[in-house]
Amino acid sequence: MPEMVACTAVHPLKDGEVRLLGAVDVVTGSMSRVDVGGTKLLVDCGVTQGRDPRRKMPEEAKEADALVVTHGHLDHIGGLPELLDSGWDRPIFCTRATYEICRISLEDSLHMARVPDREITSFLKQLERQTRTLAYDVAATVHGMNGTITFRDAGHILGSASVEIVTDKSRVIMSGDLGRPNSPILRDANSTWKDDRDVDLVVMETTYGARSHEHTHDDIERTLERIVNDAWKRRAKVLIPAFAIGRTQVLLWFLSDLVEKKRIPEVPVALDTPMGLLVTETYKRARRLFDRETLDRIQHGDDPLDFDSLFAVRRGKDSFRVRNTEGAMIVIAGSGMCTGGRIIGHLVDGLPDPETTVLFVGHQSVGTTGRRIQEVAESGGTIRLDGEELPVRARIETLRGLSAHMDRAELLGWLGNIPRVKRVGLNHGEVKAQGAFLDYAKERGVVPR
Ligand SMILES: [Zn+2]
Repeated sequence: MPEMVACTAVHPLKDGEVRLLGAVDVVTGSMSRVDVGGTKLLVDCGVTQGRDPRRKMPEEAKEADALVVTHGHLDHIGGLPELLDSGWDRPIFCTRATYEICRISLEDSLHMARVPDREITSFLKQLERQTRTLAYDVAATVHGMNGTITFRDAGHILGSASVEIVTDKSRVIMSGDLGRPNSPILRDANSTWKDDRDVDLVVMETTYGARSHEHTHDDIERTLERIVNDAWKRRAKVLIPAFAIGRTQVLLWFLSDLVEKKRIPEVPVALDTPMGLLVTETYKRARRLFDRETLDRIQHGDDPLDFDSLFAVRRGKDSFRVRNTEGAMIVIAGSGMCTGGRIIGHLVDGLPDPETTVLFVGHQSVGTTGRRIQEVAESGGTIRLDGEELPVRARIETLRGLSAHMDRAELLGWLGNIPRVKRVGLNHGEVKAQGAFLDYAKERGVVPR
């Protein structure tokens, strides 16, 4: 039976150690040093949300011989510009799709931070020069390392991976972020691991270590069906603030599935998010990573990311046109928590209108405009947006179950597929979530009480 430890930064190994430089007892800022086989690997290079911007990249990060990136969410890659800017010029390993997502999301975040275009271009060139893309399930050697690294499917977002690091003395698996089994579009997280030797350490995420996801695919489709049919009858809009990476594509998948099954009419769907469009194009180019169900649908002429009633809104002035168009329409726009982006304009029109529906499809953090809209809808009052004081008369709905992270039972199932584990270190979860997951694993008899 493996031992399991929560909120612990250092995990010793026979030929080195794993040291968590971030996400020890929080969800953001994933960054770990894995020193094995005579090499210093940095796994992920995230920034902590709300971190002091003057805080410099830790020295341990800059000492690394190579960087291994599990996926392209900012809490795993947001520190890359600072790292490269410090003169760090070693190789960066990731899957091809992760590289493409990284480019899109870092370019976007640098623009938001008002970094001059010239500097962004030079950063992207440097990123390209240093990146070495690897396929899933192919062991690769890192220069100077007495061992290999291998990416395994993590089922979280396009390109996401767990990384298996093997030397003659150690075998380590870093989970990265793990997506729910049977989620649309992507293959599930890897479930077949070799059992020819012990796994000395698994470091695994616990974002939802305290939670059980109650909502199934059927629940999601039923809720969407009700909301869309209702809006269709009233010839009204459904505004969906959505995250560009992953959430937007999964939503399109569900909408096209409902149309295909004739459970909803062919309502026009406006994809009004430049970043969401770029990411959706990247998904479409990466069919090789899709799951069987999605590939079958494409083979039968039903492409879930490219259906007849879907249209792209590229230019800002076309977004205005969408705002001025009457009739039933679904508008998917960023940002996911309404902290900026084109959703703001749609909300200015839609919030005071009792016919409009605003549909939240993800958690809204405290202090964001999204959360404020939810609060005002319950308790009354107004909300200030784009210089206007607006009443919230629109129908406010929430679609639950679209989480991109495994719940506690799914996490334990993932761990259970790995044979001969000696030690499990938890990370990427709040203190409470890690503690709850540890208790849960004890209750289930997976780790000693
Ligand atoms: Zn993630």
